[in-house]
Amino acid sequence: MNFDKIDIFENQATPLLIAGPCSAESEEQVMAVATSLVTKGVSMFRAGIWKPRTRPGCFEGVGKEGLVWLQRVKKELGLSVTTEVATAAHVEQALAAGIDMLWVGARTTTNPFAVQEIADALRGVDIPVLVKNPVNPDLELWVGALERLYNAGITRLGAIHRGFSSYAEKFFRNSPQWQIPLELRRRMPGLPLFCDPSHISGKRELILSLSQQAMDLGFDGLMVETHCNPVCALSDARQQVTPDELELILERIVHRTANVGNADFEVFRKRIDEIDESIVKLLAARMDISRELGAIKRERGVAVFQPYRYNETIEKCKELCAGKKLDTETVMEIFGMIHCESVRQQLRIVSGENE
Ligand code: PEP
Ligand code: MN
Repeated sequence: MNFDKIDIFENQATPLLIAGPCSAESEEQVMAVATSLVTKGVSMFRAGIWKPRTRPGCFEGVGKEGLVWLQRVKKELGLSVTTEVATAAHVEQALAAGIDMLWVGARTTTNPFAVQEIADALRGVDIPVLVKNPVNPDLELWVGALERLYNAGITRLGAIHRGFSSYAEKFFRNSPQWQIPLELRRRMPGLPLFCDPSHISGKRELILSLSQQAMDLGFDGLMVETHCNPVCALSDARQQVTPDELELILERIVHRTANVGNADFEVFRKRIDEIDESIVKLLAARMDISRELGAIKRERGVAVFQPYRYNETIEKCKELCAGKKLDTETVMEIFGMIHCESVRQQLRIVSGENE
């Protein structure tokens, strides 16, 4: 899959802004939101027609009736329109209605059968498609969905980062885990990357700061859920903003220029590179000791994994991090990985794999 920079909306200014309600609820609601958005620099109007709800009994979308409302937005207001598709039937109906762009939702991206069905329904059609990350933090599933569409001939592709669900996370509805979309960017530098701060945050107060972070990380656009009366929205009421609030958010976002090879930065980068080199040397030394220890464990018939030692390794991070400008949780995670690698190296010694 080869992406030179993809011009998904053909020569629009960046960052691209996709806005509109979580769900199309009524013709009046769709027209009211779209009318208020026309003057706000929005590139595309979004509205969910078929809503994948986690639990039954919630509002599951108005269905194909809503496509007619989107057609009105396109015709009367001149805004391009996009909606989520999850089945071949959705694709066929959306294409027949002249929808300008489609997106694949997070729940669908997790399911290769569903993505393949969508890809097959799109074969031979030239339409841009955005793929949201899967609900679970699995980059390969995300890449796989993009590949299925690409193999079906869809080349105007983009990705939307909407965060990853987890049992423990409370602050965000879906934790951002920025390293995953950034790794996607590393692998597919030309692929346009959007951020959906609405589904990451789950609450409108965080939309500005998440949008800013996305811009600082070089994302190409945003998808923000917007509703004229968010508290009464039939889905995702807590995370939607009004068109006026959206305008304020956009005004407040600071756009920074991408820098490449500026000499002022080089001094810092050189120091960082030196530290990285030391970290790798220290890691190698740590693993050498670990393997020596592994050999002794083997001689004495001692188990490789010692739970108390794992605990100690993780717990000591709290003390080590005290008074330093470091996030203890992150450092604990790093040490968890280091310990894991130590165990792996010792397992190889104990099983004689290197002999
Ligand atoms: C949506 O955009 O309304 C939606 C359902 O999003 P996600 O697939 O990210 O949950
Ligand atoms: Mn939503």
